[in-house]
Amino acid sequence: MPKLAEDDPMAVAMKYTHDASTVDPASRANPAEVQNCANCALIQGEDGAEWRPCQIFPGKVVAAAGWCSVWAPKA
Ligand code: SF4
Repeated sequence: MPKLAEDDPMAVAMKYTHDASTVDPASRANPAEVQNCANCALIQGEDGAEWRPCQIFPGKVVAAAGWCSVWAPKA
């Protein structure tokens, strides 16, 4: 699957970035300290993979080290 581009309209709408460390924690709706795609409830695919499918962005893969405003903690 192709990688999600940061300038994809859906990615922009969700404030997606390939690098979660660039996101100001104060701008996040959820208080959890460490937030990235790898520890998001919506990530799919295999643990440890650098690029993985996400339920929010069908047909694309997102960076395990990425982040978007839909981030939610794993149950
Ligand atoms: Fe990453 Fe979760 Fe956003 Fe998908 S929903 S892009 S896994 S933070």
